[in-house]
Amino acid sequence: MECPTCHSRQLQRNGYRNQVQCYKCKCCGRQFLGSYKQARYSEDVKQLCIRMHLQGMSTRALEKLTGIHHTTILSWIRE
Ligand SMILES: [Zn+2]
Repeated sequence: MECPTCHSRQLQRNGYRNQVQCYKCKCCGRQFLGSYKQARYSEDVKQLCIRMHLQGMSTRALEKLTGIHHTTILSWIRE
């Protein structure tokens, strides 16, 4: 993990946002999320997609319905 602005590894943990670890760079002061992929959707949305998939909805159908890419949904189901 490094700062996207100055590439420093001098990072300070700065709490959580949407269950994603936030970091603050000690060098330039920039705040950023530990994972951009996970930051996009909440746990509620994720659980709802998994549940709908278990009810027989395909990941492609879920993609059309929610706008979330089917590979993202697939990775949640595989977890
Ligand atoms: Zn920095």
